Amino acid sequence: MIPFNKPYMTGRELSHIAQAHANGHLSGDGPYTKQCHKWLRENTRASAALLTHSCTAALEMSALLLDLQPGDEVILPSYTFVSTANAFALRGAVPVFVDIREDTLNIDERLVESAITPRTKAICVVHYAGVACEMDLILDIAARHGLKVVEDAAQGIMSTYKGKPLGTIGDLGTLSFHETKNIIAGEAGALLCRDNDFAERAEIIREKGTNRSRFFRGQVDKYTWVDIGSSYLPGEITAAFLAAQMEAAGEITRRRLDIWNRYHAWAERYEDRSIVRRPIIPEACEHNAHMYYLLLPDQQARARFIAGMREAGVQTVFHYVPLHSAPEGLRIGHAHGTMTVTDSHSERLVRLPLWVGLEDQVDVVMNAADEVLAGL
Ligand SMILES: *Cc1c(COP(=O)(O)O)cnc(C)c1O
Repeated sequence: MIPFNKPYMTGRELSHIAQAHANGHLSGDGPYTKQCHKWLRENTRASAALLTHSCTAALEMSALLLDLQPGDEVILPSYTFVSTANAFALRGAVPVFVDIREDTLNIDERLVESAITPRTKAICVVHYAGVACEMDLILDIAARHGLKVVEDAAQGIMSTYKGKPLGTIGDLGTLSFHETKNIIAGEAGALLCRDNDFAERAEIIREKGTNRSRFFRGQVDKYTWVDIGSSYLPGEITAAFLAAQMEAAGEITRRRLDIWNRYHAWAERYEDRSIVRRPIIPEACEHNAHMYYLLLPDQQARARFIAGMREAGVQTVFHYVPLHSAPEGLRIGHAHGTMTVTDSHSERLVRLPLWVGLEDQVDVVMNAADEVLAGL
């Protein structure tokens, strides 16, 4: 069976972990965490970058930094992973769902302004498949209404919008290093702060609401409880693993793009015959080949495609179950306008295997798909 995902190891993870072991510093914010922070600052140009346990944790930190109160509203797409909504819901905020664009499956920026009410505090965009949202328009809307912008850039490391790394365009950005993402550490993430205004408080929230980081830098002579917070920092073993991945980020992205481009060239013939729709990358976006998906004509065709591929020994998957119609979304969320594109695309989308090391088997996947698509 060709799996849908297979974590790629660069070969240097274990020696870094051995070094962390030898360093004898296993809790957070040791030398490897500092190395990862430096890599993130250099590669994203964010003012501040903080490793977290997960992108979910970084989103929760964002909700704390925005001081969300029960009843506040956050505008976000329904077509996303649950954490995008949960982070705000945990503060009692209401997720207000807006439909997505037909081309990129990102939040439809033209629908955002009409979803704003006096209770709206923030817009949380998701850069689906590592392809950027229309950030200029979203930042403009946010500025005119005094709203903060959070970028869920879980899938967006090494991607850019008009040359700017994703996660550094809005006020706050979150990255994921979950093993299904491009750069991995099992479970890990990062919070990026574009400017310095959030950076100091982010450090405190991440360290249980204490000014411990300032204490370690010698800026205060004791550390104490100064704000609400939690424990959001990973240990050094995780950071050591991640450091190895970061060192290879350029190579990983290039190899993923090669596979993506092969799929894209192959799928053109089916798009020409209206059997599939391929991903669309707007001109302003440079993407990281996080995902290769196809949109099939309908849900039945997708079910037959996934079953046929499985019989041929290739695992393909779909996502997301839209949040506006999920039980918790119905209970606490609010859909602004129709969710036509969200509903239609989420029923028709299928993802092909894409991982570093798949190179030798891409032809096997495409040949299997040729057979299955011919019989649809
Ligand atoms: C993967 C993902 C997350 C969650 O990332 P974790 O690091 O597993 O918490 C959140 N949002 C989106 C869009 C994702 O793809």
